[in-house]
Amino acid sequence: MRLSLSWADIQYAALALLAGLILGLISGYWALSIGAILFFHLIRLLSKLARIREWLVQGITVETSPDIPGSAGDIVKAIIAVKRDSDRQRKRLEELLNRFDAATDAMPDAMLIIDRQHRVEWANPAAKQLLGIDPLRDVGQPVGNIVRDPLIAHYLQAADYTEPLEFSSPGSVDRDLMLKIIPYSKQRHLFYVQDHKDLLRLERVRKAFVTNASHEMRTPLTVIIGYLESLSEHEEMDLRVRLGIDGALDQSLRLKNLLEDLLALSKLESTLSSQSVGAPVDMVALLKETKELVEASSHYKDQPLSLSCETEVKLIGNDTELQSVIRNVIDNAVKYTEPQTPIDIVWKQLADGSAKLSIQDHGEGIAARHLPHITERFYRVDKGRSRDTGGTGLGLSIVKHVLERHSGKLQISSEIGVGTYVEMVFPQERCE
Ligand code: ADP
Repeated sequence: MRLSLSWADIQYAALALLAGLILGLISGYWALSIGAILFFHLIRLLSKLARIREWLVQGITVETSPDIPGSAGDIVKAIIAVKRDSDRQRKRLEELLNRFDAATDAMPDAMLIIDRQHRVEWANPAAKQLLGIDPLRDVGQPVGNIVRDPLIAHYLQAADYTEPLEFSSPGSVDRDLMLKIIPYSKQRHLFYVQDHKDLLRLERVRKAFVTNASHEMRTPLTVIIGYLESLSEHEEMDLRVRLGIDGALDQSLRLKNLLEDLLALSKLESTLSSQSVGAPVDMVALLKETKELVEASSHYKDQPLSLSCETEVKLIGNDTELQSVIRNVIDNAVKYTEPQTPIDIVWKQLADGSAKLSIQDHGEGIAARHLPHITERFYRVDKGRSRDTGGTGLGLSIVKHVLERHSGKLQISSEIGVGTYVEMVFPQERCE
């Protein structure tokens, strides 16, 4: 609304001027007459303002709005229009909030808004059921003080929310809750907890199935391999039969490798990562031992393996898991490298106290488009080639898993025809 001098104001000013002139003409006191008229005008204006102020103080309603003519009346109308607009907006916001409240109240998952110090700012009713957090009483409390679980405390402290956290609901031993933290502003995070009982049960059934099936197949397979090996030792044999037995033996050994890798993966998945925090592992001894094992293996093609240990530092972890990592990476270097091509293994400590294991080969290399996928299960760049070399496509998945359990970082760079460089860095806290 545009506020300009109204017609009533102009009329009133003209009348006042006329009255002043007449009064001056009659009395002959021009200045006094005009002053008296101006004073009267001022008092009238102030009284209008006082009425508007009183109306504002008492609370703006259309019914009690002062009926004032002229520009002051226009001000009243403008205030009423602004009030109507803000009323409409408030109502819309209230509706929106009510809908949001109803939705969060109905949610079976616990939702919390926490600040940078992890203090509860808001919680929905399910937070009480799942975590014992009272949406009214516990506002302002650090979430770690209410849900006393060291896993959550560690997760919040590490502030790495890329992977969700599985933990037990208070008062239960089953790890049936899943926590996701979603930062949505610099100040606030969404703390989202889902009951994963059904999903986890399904997942457990799947893992148990893979483990049991692999176990069940291992024994008969070992027997078959035994028979095939003793059969293949017979010298007098028809060539076709020999080829058949050798082929069957190859495939059985491949199956055995696959079962071993599947069992290793399910073991890693079914045990807590805290079980990887074992005694300090003598990496120098472990590297030497693994190098010898690779050199004695059937797929070794006489590539010179150079092992350079620039540090004696030990790694806090699980020696079996660490050996499987070293073995898998060196095995790959051997499998995908031509005979006589050198492979360099280096173990050293970095300036920041972390320790690095690197394996450099000069083999066929991996095209850049495959690199983001090679740690996925059963991902093989060249299925036929991997199969010929006895590969299962699970080796690097095992490596990735074990590294995660040892807080290590895996990096693989490669160039076709030049070679592959695998680097594993373990943080200082893991070194001793
Ligand atoms: P596999 O048992 O088939 O070797 P991995 O999970 O160990 O499975 O590796 C996945 C794929 O990555 C392999 O099939 C292979 O194509 C590729 N790869 C891994 N390491 C190397 C390497 N050092 N040189 C070339 N290719 C490699």
